[in-house]
Amino acid sequence: MILDGKFLATQIEQELKSQVQTIVQKLGGKIPVLATILVGEDPSSATYVKMKGNACRRVGLDSLPVFLPGSTTTEELLAKILELNANPLVKGILLQHPVPKQINERECFDAIDLKKDVDGVTALGFGLMSMGERVYGSATPKGIITLLEHYNIPLEGKHAVVVGRSAILGKPMAAMLLNKNSTVTICHSKTQNLPDFVKQADILVGAVGIPQFIKTECIKKGAVVIDAGYHNGGVGDIQKENLESIASAYTPVPGGVGPMTIATLIQQTVEACLL
Ligand code: NAP
Repeated sequence: MILDGKFLATQIEQELKSQVQTIVQKLGGKIPVLATILVGEDPSSATYVKMKGNACRRVGLDSLPVFLPGSTTTEELLAKILELNANPLVKGILLQHPVPKQINERECFDAIDLKKDVDGVTALGFGLMSMGERVYGSATPKGIITLLEHYNIPLEGKHAVVVGRSAILGKPMAAMLLNKNSTVTICHSKTQNLPDFVKQADILVGAVGIPQFIKTECIKKGAVVIDAGYHNGGVGDIQKENLESIASAYTPVPGGVGPMTIATLIQQTVEACLL
């Protein structure tokens, strides 16, 4: 079975459109805004930010793109975030990851008002989510959970193996799967005998950032395979060869996790408008 993120994301956007119309009416015609901050000129990040802005407009929200030079300091970025926190029309703030090395990314993420943290990047939001509280989840793992639930993939009692432990993807993914009563293993760059863990996965999530890092020969027959990676040439973090004959369900690349990330960001922005 193909876990069609593109299709589900389109469905979610359709549902959001009418909600946004009602919100705009209630605001007397004022259109709520998602601010998107891009620091520097990384072409992939610029594409992602543009796609997020386009998705906003498709559902009837406004996007406020904020472009800052690659030489921006932590203090300058913090000042911009505080300005957006104070702007009542800005309902959500997205700071595109990664930021240039001289910036303290964690400090800047954590400066985002929790009520506007629609990308789910603050440490406080992460902590609350891990405790099972209702807060905005990190958009990519939350989108993955939405996709799995849409296709009625059972998670309870299953062994989920997450390869990657970044703060925006691997760790929140593991916490969300744990909250769904999966038994979770997290692998990372210091994991020994990584293929042995991959082989045990009922649910496998590739979040490594290396093209085709996980080989299909290591995947258990019948596993559910989620590939969060996207690289030049349309490949992900997991090898594609024979995947359809090994996995019981899998996300395509492209058209799997990527569209769900954007749909989740927009969904959470609409939720923020209702606060
Ligand atoms: P990241 O911050 O670079 O983290 C990569 C993780 O992979 C780290 O935890 C790292 O381990 C681990 N890793 C690196 N090399 C490894 C190795 N040889 N063996 C085992 N683990 C290794 O990346 P990210 O932001 O989480 O993104 C991961 C992937 O998801 C990328 O392909 C990215 O493009 C994709 N992504 C997609 C979306 C989307 O919307 N579709 C959104 C975000 C990310 P250490 O912690 O030990 O260094």
